[in-house]
Amino acid sequence: MICPICNHADRTDIETRLSAGEGHRVLAAMFMVPVNSIALHQKEHSAQVAVQIVTSPSRTLLDLERVELDAWVVVKMAKEGVFDQHGKMIAAPDAKLMLAGLDQVRKTKETQVKLAKELAMFKAGMVPREAFDRLTSLIQVALEPFPEALRAVQEAMAEVEA
Ligand SMILES: [Zn+2]
Repeated sequence: MICPICNHADRTDIETRLSAGEGHRVLAAMFMVPVNSIALHQKEHSAQVAVQIVTSPSRTLLDLERVELDAWVVVKMAKEGVFDQHGKMIAAPDAKLMLAGLDQVRKTKETQVKLAKELAMFKAGMVPREAFDRLTSLIQVALEPFPEALRAVQEAMAEVEA
């Protein structure tokens, strides 16, 4: 059987993320492959790669999108409450939690838009160094509650500077 991970254009990125401990379900959704294939590939075919995050501005934006999706899940649970498989409510709706979730969504969205615009302008040589540095420090402050996304942004910055 042909392994969709072995033959995936982003194989290195998938393997790097696996060795960094990212979850199979998240990776399956991110790279649009069956979750079972990821488990099989990791067990049978995975090359040994150093733990490092391969990233690019576009990948960073994907990471931010994932953070945003997680925040939307919090919003939905806080709005409707949480139920077990028998339909018994195990957490009541929580307006405060819902507002906190929405605030996270807003912050993430603002950061996504800023990052996308500024990376595009910086690459096109339209943003002076000083303005870019000021902006990147603002983005990093905004991302402090999301260590994984923050790390990805820092890596992306290093890549742009290289
Ligand atoms: Zn494979």
